[in-house]
Amino acid sequence: MENKQEEKIALLIIGSGPAGYTAAIYAARANLKPVLYQGIQPGGQLTITTDVENYPGFPDGIQGPELMVHFEKQADRMGADLRYGLATKVDLSSRPFKVWIDEEKLIIAESIIIATGASAKWLGIESEQRLNGHGVSACAVCDGFFFRGKEVAIVGAGDTAAEEALYLSKLCSTVHMLIRREEMRASKVMQDRVKNTANIKIYWNTETEEIIGEKLVEAVRIRNNQTGEITDLPIKGFFVAIGHTPNSSIFEDWLDMDDAGYIKAIPGTARTNIEGVFAAGDVQDKIYRQAVTAAGSGCMAALDAERFLSEKGVH
Ligand code: NDP
Repeated sequence: MENKQEEKIALLIIGSGPAGYTAAIYAARANLKPVLYQGIQPGGQLTITTDVENYPGFPDGIQGPELMVHFEKQADRMGADLRYGLATKVDLSSRPFKVWIDEEKLIIAESIIIATGASAKWLGIESEQRLNGHGVSACAVCDGFFFRGKEVAIVGAGDTAAEEALYLSKLCSTVHMLIRREEMRASKVMQDRVKNTANIKIYWNTETEEIIGEKLVEAVRIRNNQTGEITDLPIKGFFVAIGHTPNSSIFEDWLDMDDAGYIKAIPGTARTNIEGVFAAGDVQDKIYRQAVTAAGSGCMAALDAERFLSEKGVH
């Protein structure tokens, strides 16, 4: 298909979570005239959370969507060119790089910051979607605090689920951990910690049938996949920790990634294996995944891009 439009720019930022907008703020202030495409979910994962109480600078907390409006406004005020659109294909074989937006517009960029984030995996049941943000969460560090002293359940058996179960065990009265097989995938040390925590109750061979509640989570209906036995556990919070998928598939032919598809940034930098291509935020971070760490890495990416462009004499 012939390209309807072509545009040459110095710096393209792909993604509009904390990493992308922070990169845009820094790059715009450095006069790099960044163009940012917001992607499929403008504002990123924070737009599907409610209260954010751990983003510094907001002593009374802030709603996730409102925080992202602040990020966007700040990037806009600094002069970043913020646009709707989804990067659908890239060619990073030589510089300037080619990025197609919505399969029609071609951006030719001297450098790129990839801040496309990651998406939490969900179980895919109707009640999970309906009660998302009303007791159902995919982030214990973000939302555990709201269930202090209450009973919660967490599904998953990897390192994330183990870490989040331990985090929740310090806040909640009981943590019911729902594991679909008869063993955990988490590292041995994490498994031991979970098993040795008195208020974490493990349910092996257990799957979630339904989350019960009209407006708020009231219980979870679980099924033992060996015996078929059904049980309702009264809980207030239901946490899903079954992994994340980095939004990196369009880059897989070009960039070094780990087995799960996270882009490998050179430690201590935002640089990737391709000079002039930088990665920031959750697309390159499977460990911390916090808004503040994503924002920090967006700043790193902008500073790395600024240095790169000035070394190449691009203005
Ligand atoms: P993982 O892919 O390692 O684990 C996902 C877990 O969710 C598995 O136990 C899996 O079960 C379970 N699961 C998947 N789908 C379903 C489903 N539909 N119903 C019920 N259970 C389901 O993801 P993590 O996010 O835990 O970890 C990702 C990577 O990050 C890993 O390499 C991990 O080691 C690393 N990590 C490291 C940390 C650290 O070093 N501090 C902290 C957090 C993560 P099953 O086992 O049956 O497939």
